[in-house]
Amino acid sequence: MFRCLLCQEMSQKRQLFSEIFLLKKKVTSLCQSCEAQYEPITGSVCQFCCKKSHVSPCSDCCYWQEQGKDVEHQALYHYNDKMKEYFSLYKFHGDYCLRKVFAKEVKLALSEYLDYTIVPIPISHERYEERGFNQVIGFLDAADISYHPILKKYHSQKQSEKTKNERLKTLQSFYLEQHISIPEKIILVDDIYTTGATIQLAKAVLMKKGAKTIKSFSISR
Ligand SMILES: [Zn+2]
Ligand SMILES: [Zn+2]
Repeated sequence: MFRCLLCQEMSQKRQLFSEIFLLKKKVTSLCQSCEAQYEPITGSVCQFCCKKSHVSPCSDCCYWQEQGKDVEHQALYHYNDKMKEYFSLYKFHGDYCLRKVFAKEVKLALSEYLDYTIVPIPISHERYEERGFNQVIGFLDAADISYHPILKKYHSQKQSEKTKNERLKTLQSFYLEQHISIPEKIILVDDIYTTGATIQLAKAVLMKKGAKTIKSFSISR
């Protein structure tokens, strides 16, 4: 028996024969009902950013292309009601335990970027004081992935409190640690990709200082 990290219900542990055979401990953190409500990115999605779309590039990516900016984004799940509930518990109610929910999936997805340096999207010092943790670093730590926190963030209004237009027009809110060398290949990691504005701002700062290839990854899109 185990307690589901999300709904707190007790669940029977499912163990596959192969796992018993290999004496592998299955890391189960969600009950079947919670797990089933997450929507993995499959089917008709934009090839550039994973948004649900019948056309590629999608409308968001068209906007960036018109600005002369590339999008190369990978995400794990669509942003549906269940995801919204998850992020509300994790980020806004500060349930740090929830960083572990997607550990296995994050580890697997990021293992494809072996020659890339992982750079988490930062939160401002003020936000850190308020929340007590950076939610992206929480994901990376839970997945036992090493990263380089070279990006820093000025304090500003929460992205989630802004309208779509306000987000797209946000002025630069990132800066870099002083006297550090910038890796050539970077994968930026964020929690949620909405318009892509955050990633583009972070990219601009890193490119200016010499990064050559920058891709991005998020739990949700
Ligand atoms: Zn559950
Ligand atoms: Zn797109």
